[in-house]
Amino acid sequence: MHKIDIDLVEMTLDVMKYAIDRISATEHPIGKPKKEEELRQLVGETITPKGVGGEYAFNLWKQHLSKANVPVDHPRNLAFVPASPTRSAIMFDLVTSASSIHGAYWMEGAGGIFCENEAMRWIVSLTGLPEGAFGVFTSGGTAANLSAIVTAREYWRRDDTYKREKGLIITSIGAHSSIKAMAKVADVDILLVDSEEMLTGDALRETIDSLSFHQRKRLFAVVATGGTTNAGIIDDLEGVAQVCETEKLWFHVDAAYGGGALAADSARPLFKGIERADSITIDPHKWMFSPYDCGAVIYKQPELAKAAHSQQGSYLDIFKDEGAHGFNPTDYQIQLTRRVRGLPLWFSLATHGTDRYKQAVERGLELAQIAGKMIEAHPDVELVREPSLSCVLFRRKGWQPEDYTEWTYKNHKSGFALVTPTKWKNGQTFETVSRFCFINPDTTEKDIQMILDSMT
Ligand SMILES: *Cc1c(COP(=O)(O)O)cnc(C)c1O
Repeated sequence: MHKIDIDLVEMTLDVMKYAIDRISATEHPIGKPKKEEELRQLVGETITPKGVGGEYAFNLWKQHLSKANVPVDHPRNLAFVPASPTRSAIMFDLVTSASSIHGAYWMEGAGGIFCENEAMRWIVSLTGLPEGAFGVFTSGGTAANLSAIVTAREYWRRDDTYKREKGLIITSIGAHSSIKAMAKVADVDILLVDSEEMLTGDALRETIDSLSFHQRKRLFAVVATGGTTNAGIIDDLEGVAQVCETEKLWFHVDAAYGGGALAADSARPLFKGIERADSITIDPHKWMFSPYDCGAVIYKQPELAKAAHSQQGSYLDIFKDEGAHGFNPTDYQIQLTRRVRGLPLWFSLATHGTDRYKQAVERGLELAQIAGKMIEAHPDVELVREPSLSCVLFRRKGWQPEDYTEWTYKNHKSGFALVTPTKWKNGQTFETVSRFCFINPDTTEKDIQMILDSMT
């Protein structure tokens, strides 16, 4: 027994030291994946009847496995939607893990859920939704979108006329893939307005007018995007809200990526109309500097989400008993057992204050503008469209799709940068172009210049 305890203490210190080193490091490698066979060869069997021992396993992690990841917080990782969790949020993610909190019910997680709700109140205040609106933290934007779609569908089906109908939602091709994927999960059909540019109220109006009588009957919701993942485009939320109100349709805004920009005074006006949404998705693990994973779904009328998601079961009744009263996050999204994943965000917000969040998001927006100017001044590259939020689409003059791919691999392989190509719909054709997405406020102008100069 005694021996085991000492080993455990040592292991605890080793692991803590590793975590502290990772959190405090100002620079770390960009990282790259390896093939599974390669990793297997380096690592061997690790799950055995007797175990290989913590020290041995930890060394495998440090020497081989940790290096086969591509951390999203590198300042020259500008691919997909990168991230840049604050040190205080990461530290409190460790505390969250260490505290063994079951975050489904107030009875078990009151302290943690209280903190989550404080952070949520700030996020809700950014949206401008009316009194009574509230939300919960989810595993990500996908789970948030699913929770919202199911809430909308259940609300629609309260009316007997629609009980046997398969639902239909409208969005645009600029919407995130998770909307299509989650429509499948919820078994609803989806109609895509065929433009990657801003979805306008007029385009929505036209689409609705073109529906057959039966399609119109099945239509229950519209999903607009508050910052498309590919290009940072914010739909005409005001116009879409107007049509949804007239047509009595649920209005969901997917702002998983762009939602962080609600904190920035310079970008807030672009979201005008979001305060009329029935539900909103925002990912704190994208532009609110939270560690993975942390999404959020917010409802204008949370009781509608409760009607859709509250789970019943005899062993769960105790949680609704006297003395356990309080906010139960499980009631408003698809998960029962859940991590109090808003807790790290709470600690970080409490530590730094919301002004620091504003400034950090403004820096991402500013970096996109700076990159835009550098691209315009550069002889070899040009903008595909004006930067939108923190996304910049640009082309290298004369390049074919395979040139972009080669360039990406070369930069990644050498450990310099990760910038990936994407496609942009230009009229009827898709053009391969390159894309920056800025989140990390520590990315520098020099980083951008070096990346542009590497496109030779
Ligand atoms: C990233 C993203 C999602 C998916 O969110 P996850 O957290 O990856 O599940 C959904 N919608 C938009 C607009 C996104 O940018």
